[in-house]
Amino acid sequence: MVKFVYDFSEGNKDLKDLLGGKGANLAEMTNLGLPVPAGFTITTDACRTFLRTGHGPDGLDTEIAAHLADLEAAMGRKLGDPNDPLLVSVRSGAPFSMPGMMETVLNVGLNDESVAGLSRQAGGNDRFAWDSYRRLIQMFGKTVCDVPGDEFEQALQHAKSSRGVHDDVELDAAALQELVGAYKKVFAEHTGHDFPQDPRDQMDQAVEAVFRSWNADRAVLYRRQERIPADLGTAVNIVAMVFGNLGPDSGTGVAFTRDPATGESGIYGDYLANAQGEDVVAGIRNTLSLHELEGLDKKSYDELLKIMATLEGHYRDLCDIEFTIERGKLWMLQTRVGKRTAAAAFTIAAQLVDEGMIDLDEALTRVTGAQLGQLMFPRFDLAENPAAITRGVGASPGAAFGEVVFTAAHAVEKAGQGHKVILVRRETNPDDLPGMIAAQGILTSRGGKTSHAAVVARGMGKTCVCGADQVEVGRDEFTVAGHVVHEGDVISIDGTTGRVYLGEVPVRPSEVVQYFEGDLDPAQANDPLVAAVHRIMTHADSRSRLRVRTNADTGLDAARARRFGAQGIGLCRTEHMFLGDRRSLVERLILAHNPTERRDALDALLPLQRADFLDIFREMNGLPVTVRLIDPPLHEFLPSLEELAVQVAVAQERGEEVEREQRMLNAVRRMHEQNPMLGLRGVRLGLVIPGLFAMQVRAITEAAVALAAEGGRPRPEIMVPLVGAVQELETVRAEAEKIIADVVGDSGVEVLIGTMIEVPRAALTAGQIAEAAEFFSFGTNDLTQMGWGFSRDDVEGAFFWRYLELGIFGISPFESIDRDGVGRLVRIASEEGRQARPGLKLGVCGEHGGDPDSVHFFHEVGLDYVSCSPFRVPIARLEAGRAAIESAGSDHR
Ligand code: ADP
Ligand code: MG
Ligand code: MG
Repeated sequence: MVKFVYDFSEGNKDLKDLLGGKGANLAEMTNLGLPVPAGFTITTDACRTFLRTGHGPDGLDTEIAAHLADLEAAMGRKLGDPNDPLLVSVRSGAPFSMPGMMETVLNVGLNDESVAGLSRQAGGNDRFAWDSYRRLIQMFGKTVCDVPGDEFEQALQHAKSSRGVHDDVELDAAALQELVGAYKKVFAEHTGHDFPQDPRDQMDQAVEAVFRSWNADRAVLYRRQERIPADLGTAVNIVAMVFGNLGPDSGTGVAFTRDPATGESGIYGDYLANAQGEDVVAGIRNTLSLHELEGLDKKSYDELLKIMATLEGHYRDLCDIEFTIERGKLWMLQTRVGKRTAAAAFTIAAQLVDEGMIDLDEALTRVTGAQLGQLMFPRFDLAENPAAITRGVGASPGAAFGEVVFTAAHAVEKAGQGHKVILVRRETNPDDLPGMIAAQGILTSRGGKTSHAAVVARGMGKTCVCGADQVEVGRDEFTVAGHVVHEGDVISIDGTTGRVYLGEVPVRPSEVVQYFEGDLDPAQANDPLVAAVHRIMTHADSRSRLRVRTNADTGLDAARARRFGAQGIGLCRTEHMFLGDRRSLVERLILAHNPTERRDALDALLPLQRADFLDIFREMNGLPVTVRLIDPPLHEFLPSLEELAVQVAVAQERGEEVEREQRMLNAVRRMHEQNPMLGLRGVRLGLVIPGLFAMQVRAITEAAVALAAEGGRPRPEIMVPLVGAVQELETVRAEAEKIIADVVGDSGVEVLIGTMIEVPRAALTAGQIAEAAEFFSFGTNDLTQMGWGFSRDDVEGAFFWRYLELGIFGISPFESIDRDGVGRLVRIASEEGRQARPGLKLGVCGEHGGDPDSVHFFHEVGLDYVSCSPFRVPIARLEAGRAAIESAGSDHR
């Protein structure tokens, strides 16, 4: 028979899914022999049935009754007995901590009669009894019957002011009794019935209310934010009450076994005498620091410290604790492994290693790539409380301020003069790139987390707020919420929160980035955080099997990524090398009338490309560099159709010479595509435009030979994009091999040729393709786009919100790999590729390479490396180490 109720003595800390975190840990403490009031837990299973059917599972009532009877026997009191009542708390407790999101009711079992019994129990303490009763009506009213909380609050205020007192503790028994009367009135007015007097009825209603609180709006919102599954349900704990509101020798408190902000060990916490439950955190009176408890009640204090040490040793981690002292007797009411800041996660893990509590493997599992990411961004110092003028999507974290500019050209110009600038655009496009590079940060009024601005900014580790849709961007000013911000005015943008501020908000740089940059020697830095990061990263590298490369298109990026620990370049895009000044050469190439004109254009591009590659190969000397042949549709390099059409029309009007413009316009018309992402791009370009790939292959090989001649060790890998059939690759390969053989001579340079796997057909015919490829690199962006049939630039704004709402996916498949579908394509291609060519090198490039969850997946599939933007390299390194430890752990099981 399924069991729906567990006594605290029957559970343990590993039963969180069933008993919730609170219940599992109460059971664990009970079994450790710590002073926990008796009680039992109703499982999440029962809650799920309740939420599905509107009532608890069959047999639940009987089980609860049996456990309640046991509890009553153990306590020697009956629930709500008029002469000597047992009171209980009814407490929520989900598998994941959802602080303050759900409900708890204390003092259940009190009514008009048992309030007198409670007073007698406490030696004639009427004040305490009425205080407990008014708390019950208030909590029950709010939680179970949705009575607005401020109505009770007002009645309490009135009671205090009419007696001229300031604090609730100053209210005497008569005042509290009167308050109970007032509360009951509020209750009846709002519910249409009197406060329930039957103790068991109170308890049952409270249990159901806790079940229901799982689906309260704020709980739903919180879960969505924290990516907690919606179908877990909460457990309910019924706990015998202990009382901190019995007088000055009683009280209640919270404690941490070390500082959750910094990780420093010590005694941290707050205590409030003569108080109950939430009073400490609700800030109703000034609390004492935990140290001060020593002077008040040395015995309880000493016992608490001993218990804290026991818990730390047992959980081998920072614990947070709730306790109550009832007339000098200490009771433990809750513990859990405490939440902490990203910085504390690292320092605590390192400290626990020093203290011999955990080993480095374990330390590595205690931190996450997301936490490391947080530590890498500069932050605003919000001490002065600046007011935000608007809020957009925090698309690329960081804190940046600067003068507003509205064009990429101005950004470059002003930055060149030493100004810090924020580039403000309605949205960005590839032509804005130089401006984005020059700017401290980017603000757009349109587009979401995968808009051009967002993706490029994240790639560069540049602060970006996008989709600030209240911002009206004009030519040389923008307006928002009544503010007019002119070019040259200073604003600050927070890429984590999406907030935008007027003026300069001061920033703090991240020590962790300084450390990765090599500006901080971890041995000399007395910063415990830097030391901890260094230690854990070093360990991650020693453990990981998956290598981490970077996406980099310039020597500068390559150099930085190398400092960040990249073990090569997994994706060097060549299209950026066709922008800027070189645009005119590309135009010549596209508009060429005949082979000679085309060859001239290519000949002019060759040395430029060669220089680019040489620069990159030098920075990555000794490490592999995967260069992708040109990928995007060529019309991206030409002016837009509309722009040209207007130009030509205007020029004709004026009777000006338009031959060149007209030719360009014709070309643009000819090349216009309905679905450019599925059109003439990637390998298709190479097969259609004679000499284009050949030029690139030559430039790559010549650059490699040049580096070898300098005594360097180039390791070029040529990657052909968008292959769907092995024949495409074979054709490119045949031409490339001739050029390579010709250029390499006796330089000893070796050039690999491989392909991206980004078209589903390529994944499904990987066995054939592997015959012609020395490596595969999964282009998971395109593979996701084509696997789902999602146009990446359109879908996110259009309907992803609805898909997320419906739970069709929990997270955008462009952010984290869709394991079941796109991931399956990766698996198939990996297996069949390696069957055809044992030892086939496998990697992934694209945004997923830097996503923690995806990194774990790529480790499982057995890829050799992931490649991600320079700033994500440390994150991927950390996750690669964690993935290795996790899979070793699961092998043991
Ligand atoms: P939360 O999940 O919001 O922390 P809890 O269930 O822990 O809610 O309860 C709220 C407050 O009531 C806590 O301060 C807790 O210590 C106190 N409390 C809960 N049960 C009891 C009890 N049986 N006796 C005394 N205080 C209790
Ligand atoms: Mg609690
Ligand atoms: Mg692609």
